Amino acid sequence: MVVRRLLLPVSLAALCVAPAAFAQQAGGGQVAHVESASAPIVDSAPAGESKQPAAVSKQERLEGDMRRPHSSIGTHQPEHWSYHHDRTGPDRWGELDPSYAVCGSGKNQSPVDLREPDVRTRSSTVRLDYRPARFSVKNSGMVVQAKPKDSPRLPAVKVGERTFVLKQFHFHSPSDHTFRGRHFPLEVHLVHESEDDQYVVLAAMFRPGPRNAALDRVLSKRVKAGETVDIDQALHVRALLPQQLAHYRLNGSLTTPPCSEGVNWVVFVKPVYASREQIETLRHMVDGPNNRPVQPFNARLLIEETR
Ligand SMILES: [Zn+2]
Repeated sequence: MVVRRLLLPVSLAALCVAPAAFAQQAGGGQVAHVESASAPIVDSAPAGESKQPAAVSKQERLEGDMRRPHSSIGTHQPEHWSYHHDRTGPDRWGELDPSYAVCGSGKNQSPVDLREPDVRTRSSTVRLDYRPARFSVKNSGMVVQAKPKDSPRLPAVKVGERTFVLKQFHFHSPSDHTFRGRHFPLEVHLVHESEDDQYVVLAAMFRPGPRNAALDRVLSKRVKAGETVDIDQALHVRALLPQQLAHYRLNGSLTTPPCSEGVNWVVFVKPVYASREQIETLRHMVDGPNNRPVQPFNARLLIEETR
């Protein structure tokens, strides 16, 4: 492990998901240690408890979800936002609606540019419990999103001892995150939620290469803007991640309004392959680029878990 950057206490206090993975520092100024006891990141856990998602989901508030029309009666409807370079664009999100304020004022916003980690550790606090599942695919016109159909055992991840169930995955093109200042053509976000409403988002970058089996499923029916379509065959989300599961961990936010903070990000170091045709198809299913510009890193800690 190497510690390269002096950290402010606030950066650790803000790591609200799986805080056991991070040592709270008494005096501030130095990282005490990174817990290394957890199992390494693995493809699939042995059969064990896997929780059904809560009946009342916050899915509609999750990143990448469709904007609702301004038609509900008697309830506050947040302002329209966009990725355009106008008064509704990313630079103005924080001013569009009081519920979006943190988009402009937050100190732990996502995405970010990923550079040299502050800490490297050979252990991993993240454990995949993925399995094939049935999905429906929705194209909002701004984002293509796949949501698992109800099942007794949904794909999930464990971070420390806590289980986070997959709620949806969706795509950004070009990538939201950058690596040393450079975008990838496509990024997937797998959004997971715990029973106590904590979020873990797994992010993987795509680069051109062999076809990707999971994207083949997503693209098996050309879902037009405004449509939601069930996919016939089961999809294994593991195929959306690289073979090598080394990853960065950092605290961040949703990358779309309301830009809520307290999201635990797991960003895979290696990209995953998809064909140029698959990447281009996904890119053209939505109305233009749907990436948020990278945000200041501020006092956050970037941890690389190398396996
Ligand atoms: Zn996203």
